[in-house]
Amino acid sequence: VATAVLLGSLTACGQEAIGGSRYKPDEGKGSTIGLAMPTKASERWIADGNNMAEQFKKAGYKTDLQYGDNKVENQIAQLENMITKGRSLLVVAAIDGSALSEVLQRAHDAGIPVISYDRLILGTDNVDYYASFDNERVGRLQAQYIVDKLKLGKPEKGGDAHNIELFAGSPNDNNTKYFWNGAMKVLEPYFKSGQLTVRSKQTKMNQATTLDWDGGTAQKRMDDLISKNYGSAKVDAVLSPYDGISMGIISALKSAGYGSKSEPLPVITGQDAELASVKSIIRGDQTQTVFKDTRKLAARTVSMGDAVLNDKKPKVNNTKDYNNGKKTVPSFLLDPVSVDKSNTQLLIDEGYFKAGQLK
Ligand code: BGC
Repeated sequence: VATAVLLGSLTACGQEAIGGSRYKPDEGKGSTIGLAMPTKASERWIADGNNMAEQFKKAGYKTDLQYGDNKVENQIAQLENMITKGRSLLVVAAIDGSALSEVLQRAHDAGIPVISYDRLILGTDNVDYYASFDNERVGRLQAQYIVDKLKLGKPEKGGDAHNIELFAGSPNDNNTKYFWNGAMKVLEPYFKSGQLTVRSKQTKMNQATTLDWDGGTAQKRMDDLISKNYGSAKVDAVLSPYDGISMGIISALKSAGYGSKSEPLPVITGQDAELASVKSIIRGDQTQTVFKDTRKLAARTVSMGDAVLNDKKPKVNNTKDYNNGKKTVPSFLLDPVSVDKSNTQLLIDEGYFKAGQLK
């Protein structure tokens, strides 16, 4: 009996007592799932981590939740540690989508499945599923909002001309190009017709990226764009891919004198419906954001993980768009929703915020 108990408890720690891999993971219900999130600097990732921890718990699992502080080496060390500890499944929102091949090879060798969370992990066969939002649609929603708000109508030569500046996300995040490409599909016809002009001429994604999605970096770039290109001309719209970046852009615009009755702020998009930015929208500073309900993404990931750990096939709804350079990763994509001043109530109705928080 003593030996059986000992063997049982060794297995429960994720270590095989006799033979096999030393780090054979626990499996199934009761096992511990590794959740590797990128940063606590943005609200959404805190919510993502907490939502998953809560929902995996409800489904009968334990979790090991780690944040990488936007440093690739931290995230790799955290994943290595999860593998060593015999976590049964890794859910990873990558800091740098291309930097995880080696560590995920180790996960594979240890028999640990991997779900790529929100951001696709690139250049490795060792990613089993992808759960995210329709990232291209996020970019289309932002761009279409600008087109509608400026009342550009159908693209046509001779229409009113407006000035726009463009921001992209972090260059090491695979989502960045999906957001950008989605937006450009909508905006390009208006560049061609002359209804939209980028005075800075920084129209390529690699001229517009914002390392680590950092608001301060965006603020500096916007300061620069205004001072070098806008003498007496005005910025009418800014394509911003993320609320934190929008905040930096708004600060730069305000320092340049925008934000008064005679000189209103331009149309400024965003993403994530972060609390401070929703308040900014209600105040009339930021104009739009894209709401991605992280609770739904967590729920989807939990049911995916639960299926994987119980030898069932998770439900997917896209098996063609997300190729990571090595394989097309079966994906489940959720729908993002455009939010502006006219429909912030939706966030309360959905229970994402309480009415008092938006006051
Ligand atoms: C996410 C966005 C988020 C951005 C910055 C992207 O990968 O999809 O929702 O705004 O990272 O954290």
